[in-house]
Amino acid sequence: MYKQKLIINKTIDKKEIQKLINWFINNFGAIKTTKLLDKLKLLGFNYATKIGISLGIKDLKIPKIKKTLIKNNQKNIDKLYYQIKKGNLKTIEYDEKVKEKWNQISEILKKEINDNFRTTDLLNPLYVMVISGARGNISQIKQLVGMRGLMVDPKGEIINIPIKSNLKESLNIVEYFISCYGARKGVIDTAIKTATAGHLTRKLIYLVQDQIIRRPDCYTKEMEIVFNLKNKKSYYNKSIEKILGRVAAKEIRCSNLTISSGQDICNYLAKKIIHIKKIFLRTPLTCKVNHGICQLCYGWNLANNRIADLGEPVGILAAQSIGEPGTQLTMRTFHTGGIFSGEIGETLTSPINGTIYYENKKDKKLIKLNNNSKVLLTLKEKKLLIIENKQKRFNIKLPKHSLIFIKSQKKVFEKQIISEIINWKKAKKLIKTKNNKERLKGVNTSISGKFIILKKNYLHDKEKQQKLCITNANIITKNLMKHNLENKTIYHIKQKIIHKINICSNFEPMKNLFKISEKDKKKNSNKLKILKIINARKKKKLNIKLRSFTLKKSKCKNNLITEKTKTNKIIKKKKDNRNFEKIKKNYEANEKKLYIDKNYCSEVIENRKKTISLNKAILYQIKQKNLILDKNKGLVKKDSIIFYTQYKTQKTTDIVQGLPKIEEILENKKSKQQKILKSLFEKIKENNTSKIAAKKSIYKIQNYLVKKIQLVYLSQGIIISNKHIEVIIRKITSKAIIRESGESSLMQGEIVEINKLEKINKKLQRKITYEPVIIGISKSSLLNNSLISNICFRGVIENLTIGAIEGKVDWLNGIKENIIIGNLIPAGTGQKIP
Ligand SMILES: [Zn+2]
Repeated sequence: MYKQKLIINKTIDKKEIQKLINWFINNFGAIKTTKLLDKLKLLGFNYATKIGISLGIKDLKIPKIKKTLIKNNQKNIDKLYYQIKKGNLKTIEYDEKVKEKWNQISEILKKEINDNFRTTDLLNPLYVMVISGARGNISQIKQLVGMRGLMVDPKGEIINIPIKSNLKESLNIVEYFISCYGARKGVIDTAIKTATAGHLTRKLIYLVQDQIIRRPDCYTKEMEIVFNLKNKKSYYNKSIEKILGRVAAKEIRCSNLTISSGQDICNYLAKKIIHIKKIFLRTPLTCKVNHGICQLCYGWNLANNRIADLGEPVGILAAQSIGEPGTQLTMRTFHTGGIFSGEIGETLTSPINGTIYYENKKDKKLIKLNNNSKVLLTLKEKKLLIIENKQKRFNIKLPKHSLIFIKSQKKVFEKQIISEIINWKKAKKLIKTKNNKERLKGVNTSISGKFIILKKNYLHDKEKQQKLCITNANIITKNLMKHNLENKTIYHIKQKIIHKINICSNFEPMKNLFKISEKDKKKNSNKLKILKIINARKKKKLNIKLRSFTLKKSKCKNNLITEKTKTNKIIKKKKDNRNFEKIKKNYEANEKKLYIDKNYCSEVIENRKKTISLNKAILYQIKQKNLILDKNKGLVKKDSIIFYTQYKTQKTTDIVQGLPKIEEILENKKSKQQKILKSLFEKIKENNTSKIAAKKSIYKIQNYLVKKIQLVYLSQGIIISNKHIEVIIRKITSKAIIRESGESSLMQGEIVEINKLEKINKKLQRKITYEPVIIGISKSSLLNNSLISNICFRGVIENLTIGAIEGKVDWLNGIKENIIIGNLIPAGTGQKIP
């Protein structure tokens, strides 16, 4: 059939060649494949010498659109900054939005780089290298000719100042120092995290090193049931992967073919039976062989897609398959230099600079995203219109369930993201979720002063949000008073507080100087006086100048506030006529003391003919319930928390964060899984015997653990066959703790394998009762492995002593103990197994 010549007429890159070789090895076997590989290699070398790829600085081509993209984005961010001044945005939200916007721009730029090379310079050596998959990836090219983007600090948090330059343009000083964080993270991670990843691999190997394919079949009656997911495309590949290379445990009947039990499922069969609802398969989880696994339970050896041979050390294969990606990925953060790249979904960008229009019908919904920003979700197909001028206009049709980020009649710039297309599932999630679970974070003031809660609609804002205004003022507390006394300033305070000043003994002789005139006494008691004394220590000549300020007493007992607040800015009519008129008009028209400009928000404190004095003020948008201010005080100090807000910060989720998670699951560090197992066991035990309860609860917890580990790796884009994880999980869930020892000689509280317990139970009348437990990998490998292997792993003296006292026997089942003694290892295909 294949004797005809096979012609493939397309560009073959790394992925394509992988596919080709895979297909070849499946159809023609290993020997013919080696010949093909040799030929391919020769072909490759031949043309590699002919093309002679080299790299020059001129090959690094920066797309022209970069400048305008960055300029426009900066404009938008400046507008956001104005929103802070207006009190519509909190600084935390601002930070998040800035990060998001820069990330988007950097991702758009990545696309542009690709397009730029493809359309203008297809044979560019840089582009050829990346696209073919020979060296480097697009993220590195982005750093060379796009923008480096957002950096990550050693904690994994994103720094909100982006690096706008690329490596060809070279960085400026600030950008250079920011990129040091990422570079340092890379160095630290390679030094420390590779060690962690390596240690995990080592522990895993010690746990499962005795798992060798020992027998052709264990005749187990337990099996895994695979519920088939709906025939959707996204699930299709996943389901195929789940059943491929496994062995049917029961007969599977499909329209025109029958798969008998014990048949392995190849690619062809997998596609045929994928739509069947329930498929029963063998799995390593339920294999009955004691120190190993049987051929049928394990299924294919994934190295050659054939049933694993007898003597294959599948335990070590599994341990390495799980441990290796960890080491790989720690290196990857080093190579990208700590650059953060959050992926953006399927987005739609504006083709021109212009204004966007769309109808305001009721076919959309307002949705709050994680960073508190509001977007529109379309419920039907929607038409967008972007107009630059009369000739240039664009019609865009948005599909159902897209997010629109820009309001109607607003301006957009070229390549700005207008909308994101999401699927129905995500849309449903967005509609349902309420951001209750997020953490709350306190917001601090940057100035101290008086606060006023503005009434709704005070500033004629479209959004009728309540706002809090803090105006700059000096707060004098009791402590400050004392301190100032020593600095030769005396607060001369009428009536009640005057006595307190006398405490300061240094100034005793001066006490008499403060004579309160009858006039003052009659005045408002709220008014206070400051007297400044100069040269207080020179007793000879009391050269004292007295200056008085009026102080206002605040509602709070201990705090005073100067009535004349600091003037932050004075606007003169002559110099800045435009601003002057604007403020005056605004002030006189509305009698409003607050003035908000692009750069500052301020309070008008003096309004004269030729000058206006302004005082600094800050506006915050608030929700009454989140406010924690003491309303009675009316004053806030600098850096104190005034209210709480919801926030969510992005963090990079690289394997460096993932590895501890996996270790946590495998080592059973948090007792959460144990609790789940226990509650499951007790629940099932109510209606069943403890044997069945143990089986069912373990089956459930095993699947839960496999899923959990898979999730961590999948988030990194790493695909590990379930088989490998199952081999490990089987080990840590195979034991039980004895509650009542019955007629047996076992001790209460002892941890024994369930298989063994069941065998003993068969011959007993008063049976052993037990409870299944999960045991972490390092403890687990000490529990059942041989004495020699244990001594070499951990606790040398302890294990030697126990071994000597108990008179332990080592059966030399595993690989490690045989290596130590100097025997041949009991693994390896081709050997005779009794
Ligand atoms: Zn088996």
